[in-house]
Amino acid sequence: MVYTGVLTKMQTEFLEPIQYYLVFKNDFIHVNQLLNKPIDIKLIGHQCLSCGLDRPIYRQGFCKTCFFNQPLAGDWIMRPELSTAHLGIEDRDLEFEKQVQLQPHIVYLANSSNVKVGVTRKGQVPTRWIDQGAHEAIEIVEVPNRYLAGITEVALKEHVADKTNWRTMLKNDIKDEDLLEWRQKLKQYIPEEAQPYFIENNTETHIDFPVEHYPLKPKSLNLSKTPHYSGKLVGIKGQYLIFEDNTVFNVRANEGLVVELSM
Ligand SMILES: [Zn+2]
Repeated sequence: MVYTGVLTKMQTEFLEPIQYYLVFKNDFIHVNQLLNKPIDIKLIGHQCLSCGLDRPIYRQGFCKTCFFNQPLAGDWIMRPELSTAHLGIEDRDLEFEKQVQLQPHIVYLANSSNVKVGVTRKGQVPTRWIDQGAHEAIEIVEVPNRYLAGITEVALKEHVADKTNWRTMLKNDIKDEDLLEWRQKLKQYIPEEAQPYFIENNTETHIDFPVEHYPLKPKSLNLSKTPHYSGKLVGIKGQYLIFEDNTVFNVRANEGLVVELSM
């Protein structure tokens, strides 16, 4: 079988284990079914997720022009504390920003290689945690807009990490943490405006990934340098495909690349 399409992050289904899907314009590939099979990936072009042109991808699946113009790539995406729609202040497109920012957001703790704090829209739980390869996670606060989530994250970053180590996550070099205890410990550092939204009474979510073999020394596949790769798929974790020879491929980081997959 040969499938051709533009890479976008894998869709997921929260089952035990997680089910992964690659969605191309004309095909829907259930990636779990490819486990233990050889796959061939070939880079054949680029397609910006916004303008659709065959231009080099700059960031987040966008060409450079779109990255600096699209409302979806505003600074407040990566830095939620810069959100201003709650004040009626526009960054690139106020209507769009209101839609995205003025909805319930979650500040959470997730453990993929270490405990870290993060922000996501409520509707993205647990998708966001799955995408990060977290084996456990818990909500801290549920706030009515992105700004409040952002300032909470900034305050908590002083006391807990906000980054993960992808190599550790993929090697599964992890330990279980008591996230309830972490949440309780961090409660005092939540900014006053967000204190009323603290979540007292829910439990950790545990996530089980379809991995047969964890790589001992993961090395990342860069299709721009190695436009043609073949390997046997032995696992999927976060947004990574894991191959038998320790090669790993971050699907999300390669959004906008047009590939040919054969199996
Ligand atoms: Zn573009």
